[in-house]
Amino acid sequence: MTDQQELFKAIPSVNEVMSDSRIQELEKRYSKAEVKKEIRRSFDLIRKEILDGKIDELNLSTVVQLVEKEVKQDMQPSLRPVINGTGVILHTNLGRSLLSPAIKDYVNQIMFSYSNLEYDLEKKQRGLRYHHVEKLIRELTGAEDALVVNNNAAAVMLVLDTLVQGQEVIVSRGELVEIGGSFRIPEIITKGGGTLHEVGTTNKTHLRDYQAALNDQTGAVLKVHTSNYRIIGFTERPDEAELYHFAQSAGIPLINDLGSGLLIDLSRFGLPKEPLIQEAVATSDIVTFSGDKLLGGPQAGIIAGKRSLVEKIKHNQMLRALRVDKMTLSSLAATLELYHNPQKAIQQIPTLQMITVKPAELKERAENLAAQINENVDHVKVEVKAGTSQVGGGSYPGYLLKTYLVCLAPTSGTSATDLEDNLRHGDQPIVARIEHDQIIFDVRTLQQGDGQVIIQRLTDLMD
Ligand SMILES: *Cc1c(COP(=O)(O)O)cnc(C)c1O
Repeated sequence: MTDQQELFKAIPSVNEVMSDSRIQELEKRYSKAEVKKEIRRSFDLIRKEILDGKIDELNLSTVVQLVEKEVKQDMQPSLRPVINGTGVILHTNLGRSLLSPAIKDYVNQIMFSYSNLEYDLEKKQRGLRYHHVEKLIRELTGAEDALVVNNNAAAVMLVLDTLVQGQEVIVSRGELVEIGGSFRIPEIITKGGGTLHEVGTTNKTHLRDYQAALNDQTGAVLKVHTSNYRIIGFTERPDEAELYHFAQSAGIPLINDLGSGLLIDLSRFGLPKEPLIQEAVATSDIVTFSGDKLLGGPQAGIIAGKRSLVEKIKHNQMLRALRVDKMTLSSLAATLELYHNPQKAIQQIPTLQMITVKPAELKERAENLAAQINENVDHVKVEVKAGTSQVGGGSYPGYLLKTYLVCLAPTSGTSATDLEDNLRHGDQPIVARIEHDQIIFDVRTLQQGDGQVIIQRLTDLMD
C-alpha cells in the first residue's frame, strides 16, 4: 500500500470523531447538524491535503484538532474587532471612530433595558426620540433646533428633499464633491427633486457669481465643505458671513454641508484650521455633519439650524426611513455630553486623542513596542522610524501628522508579505501596512493592549 492509501485509510469515521469529548463540547455550543457538516468539510480538506502531499501523519487526535479549528473559524462572527496598525485614525474600512470608553456604562444600560426613548415621563404621553439630543446640540453649537438621522449622507438628502423641491440650488463649481464613490452632490440634488445651478469655476467663485445666479426659481444656496480634498494656489471663495448675508437678503436658506464635524479648534495642536460646527451654524440656516468623523461619536448625520426649517424637516415623511435607534441616540448623547469639558473631551474621545497625541509620546510607545518585539520574537529585525499618519475619513485632506513607525522584517523562514497575511488571519486580525518588504505598525492607532496581542501573535508565527 502506498503512503497515500495508508493515510486515506487512517481517516476516522464521522461517528468516531463525533464521540470525542472535545467534539461533544462543540456540539453543546453549536448543533449536532452543524458539527457533522464541519466534520465532513474537514474530511474533504484532509483528503485534498493528502493528495497534495501536505499530510504525513494522521490520527483521531489530529483530525479532531482540525475539526475544532474549522468549526471555530467558521462559527466566529463575520464582523469582529481588528487591530488598526495603519495609523489612519478615521479608517472608513475599519469602522471610522472608536467610541469613548467613558460612555460605556451609560450606553450599556440603555441598550439592555427599556428606556423613555419615545415616552414623555412628565406628560405621560408619547415623546420624540430626537428630544434626547436636541438640547445638547443646541447648547454646544448655538443652533436653535436639531435632528439626527442615520448618517450625513441621509442628512443632506433629507434637507434637500424638504427644502428645495422643484427649485434651483446654487452651488459653487469648486464644491461639487464626491464622497466615498456613490455620494455625489450633483446627483443628490437631482434626487432631492431640485435642479443644480452651478456657479463660478473650480478654483474661484465670487459673491457676484452667486448674486448673478439668483432668480425666481432659486430655492437655496448649498455650501459644501470640501472636506476630502483641497484646492490650493490661485483660489477664492466668498467670505462666509457675506454669503450668508446674501442668502438672507434674497430670502433663501443657506444650507451648509460641513461633513466632518469639529466642536473644538485643534489648530493650537498644530493642525490646519478646519471650520467649527459653531462657526458654520452662525453663518448658515442649516448645517449637516457626521457623528463619526471628527466628532468621534457613532455613525449619525446631524442636522442643526433654524427652528422653522428643522421643524419642516422633522415633518418630512422620509424621516421615518432614516431614523436612528437607541444605540445611536444614547452613544451620540453621551459623546456630546463629554464636550461640556473640552479639555477632558480631547483626552476621552479616542478620535481627538489620537489626532492630538504628541510625537514624543508616540516615539516612546514605538520604542517600547520595538524593544518588546526584539526581546520576545525570534527571526525578525525591528527598527523604529519617523513617519507620517493621516486623519482619514475624508478629514484634514492632505495633512500629515508626524508619527513613529515600528518596522519589522522576518530574517528567515517567511517573507514580510506572508507574515502580514498571517497576522491578518488570526483570531484578532492585525491590519498593518507593507512597505519595502517591511511590515509597518503606526503606533498612533494602536490601542491599549494591542501591543501584547501583536507580540503574542508574532511569537506564535515566528517560533
Ligand atoms: C463625509 C461627508 C458626507 C457623508 O457623510 P457620511 O456620514 O459618511 O454619510 C457628506 N458631505 C461631506 C462634506 C462629507 O465630508
